[in-house]
Amino acid sequence: MAHINKEKCIPCGLCFNSFSEVFKQWADGKAEVVNDGKLNEEQQKIYDEVKPMCPASAIE
Ligand code: SF4
Repeated sequence: MAHINKEKCIPCGLCFNSFSEVFKQWADGKAEVVNDGKLNEEQQKIYDEVKPMCPASAIE
């Protein structure tokens, strides 16, 4: 399931600033996946594209 490793997230903002259909900023300032990580096909595609862009490898 789509998941952010909170321990690793810096949080630089790349994912939730540019791809808000899949990522959001949580109250702790770090990234979260929308809909508790349950993504539709289109969202999963975006997730997979953004994953290698995370500078902290926090998108798992
Ligand atoms: S791109 Fe990575 S480090 Fe930056 S906010 Fe998203 S999960 Fe956190």
